[in-house]
This record gives sequence, structure tokens and C-alpha cells, in this order.
Amino acid sequence: MSCYKGKYHDELIANATYIGTPGKGILAADESTGTIGKRLASINVENVESTRRELRELLFCAPGCLQYLSGIILFEETLYQKTADGKPFVEVMKEGGVLPGIKVDKGTVELAGTNGETTTQGLDGLAQRCQKYYEAGARFAKWRAVLKISQTEPSQLAINENANGLARYAIICQENGLVPIVEPEILVDGPHDINKCADVTERVLAACYKALNDHHVLLEGTLLKPNMVTPGSESKKVAPEVVAEYTVRALQRTMPPAVPAVVFLSGGQSEEEATLNLNAMNKLKANKPWSLSFSFGRALQQSTLKAWQGKEENIGKARAALLKRCKANSEATLGTYKGDAGDGEGVSESLHVKDYKY
Ligand code: 13P
Repeated sequence: MSCYKGKYHDELIANATYIGTPGKGILAADESTGTIGKRLASINVENVESTRRELRELLFCAPGCLQYLSGIILFEETLYQKTADGKPFVEVMKEGGVLPGIKVDKGTVELAGTNGETTTQGLDGLAQRCQKYYEAGARFAKWRAVLKISQTEPSQLAINENANGLARYAIICQENGLVPIVEPEILVDGPHDINKCADVTERVLAACYKALNDHHVLLEGTLLKPNMVTPGSESKKVAPEVVAEYTVRALQRTMPPAVPAVVFLSGGQSEEEATLNLNAMNKLKANKPWSLSFSFGRALQQSTLKAWQGKEENIGKARAALLKRCKANSEATLGTYKGDAGDGEGVSESLHVKDYKY
């Protein structure tokens, strides 16, 4: 049987293509309640519904930012939240030309008999949840699978299990009108070099596309959210041009041109590092049949969060920091970023957290 041809076929393709519009990208603001708690704790703000809502209003209503975004990923709670004036966030996004997205996975659990490798949960009841989210205005979804690099990892079991989970999630999303973001994140943790990361990334992506094909997923109505190909966190960094070359080559070898866009995760890179790497990829002269953009969480929010500190009087400053990062990343999707956002407070600070849980 061939790939998905159901009632959302055209809409899925249109939305996936729109998200990949050059000059725009995704703000990943879908931190679970636990994860956002860690962020808020770092600026001494209590983790309660009202502070989570305030932070999201700060982000989504920041003047000038939405023009650089095509999508924002939300956690379920945020999908139903409103501005202080009572306007649903989904409405704010719609008016700004930004598609609301939703995190639909339920986190990871360990695979028995492995060295701490994981699989992602959340397939039970997923179709019903997707229907509900579509009705609430969501048009795309995210599911994060996590793999790690060490002597004997990732195991074939972890690769197969996660590829299959992503494919099953993807087709369920499509059947219910949501563009699936396929996110097989290979963690940066470890002392490995860039060649090792490239090998593993190619192996994992090849397995994912085989599984997506087996599950009859309409590739034109999907997006890929991969890690960039870099040396491990305990290894010496390389120049953005090198990251660009390795990353684009890994994609060329494994990713079908039918997929409209790649939206990279930042994975603990500093804000400036992530922007420079993305910019280098878009400057690279190579065969790139997809647009290369961003779906950054930490690398879009860190300086904003720092500037805010949970204080009303800092909102203007915090929004200015966000605007700076959104504009810089927009330019990076076009390969025209000149490095002029590199002087902000904390933008070059590593955001790496070992065994990061999203
Ligand atoms: P980071 O950009 O902080 O890695 O997060 C993106 C994301 O959504 C991970 O699932």
C-alpha cells in the first residue's frame, strides 16, 4: 500500500511546507511542567500555572518576534491558556501567521536489558488526543525520541524501537490532521569525535526513513528535527563550517528530498553557537533539497529568561533579547547572519545539561 492519501493530505503538505518557509522557524516552548520548573528555578521563580502562563505570554506576545516564526510548539497546558487580557494564545499565533504545535509524547522509559537506553511513550490514546488538539487549533506535533552515543550505544534495539515509535506516531498524527515533527535526538553527551556522531546520525536517520516508509507516512507532510552533527560534549569543538559540512552530508545520505524542511534542535549549544552553525549550513554550497531551519528551545529562550528574572519591569528587556535571537536565527535560515547578535548577555554560554530530559 502506498502512503497516506486521506482527507488531510493537502493540508498536511501545505502546513509542513509553510513551517519550512525560508526566513522563519519554530520556537520550541513545549517544556513539560517539570522541565519548565527547572528553568524557572534558575531565575528564582516559583513553578505554578500563573508563572508558566506569564512566561509564555512574554514569549508569544513579544513585539516583532512572530514575523520570524512559522510555528510554536506548546505543552498541553499552554494550548488552552490565554493572555492576561483573555485572548487565547492560539489566537495570538494565528493573527501572527504562526502555527500552533503540540508536544504529544509522554516522555521516555528505559529499555530493559540495555545500558540506560530509552524508548518514548505516548502511543496509547494518541489518535484521540490528536483530534482534540486539532480542534483546539494545533496543526503540527512533536515526539522526541532519544538516543545516546557510547562504546556500544546506540544499540540496534534502541535504533529500531525508536524509529518504529516515531513512524507509528507520525502516521497517527497525519490521520488526524497534524504534521508530525520526527525528532530522533542523538544526545551530545560523551567524548566521541564528529565522525562518530556523523556515523550514528546517518544510521539513525536511515532507520527512521525506512520505518516512516514502512508505515505509509506521507513524507511531504512531515518535518525532521535532528541534532546537528558535532563532536561530543567532552571533545574539542569544531568551526561552524565543519559542523555544516558534516551535518548536510549526513542529511544528503539519508533524508529524502520529499521532506520539505529540517528544523534543528539546539541540544545544549549556546544561543550564538546554534545560530552560527545553522547559518554556516545555509551558506554552504551543496545540494540541499530541503530548507534548513530551527526549532530551538534553550537556544531561543536562555537570554530572554535571564533578562526577565520573573520581574514585571524586565519584560521589555526580556522581549528585546528574544527579538534579537529570533531575527538572528531568521537570518541564519537564509545564510545571511553577520554575527551581530553575539554580544548579548549569556548568548555564548553553553546550555548543555547531561542526560537532558525535555
Ligand atoms: P533544545 O533546542 O533546547 O534542544 O530543545 C528543542 C526541543 O524541542 C527538544 O525536544
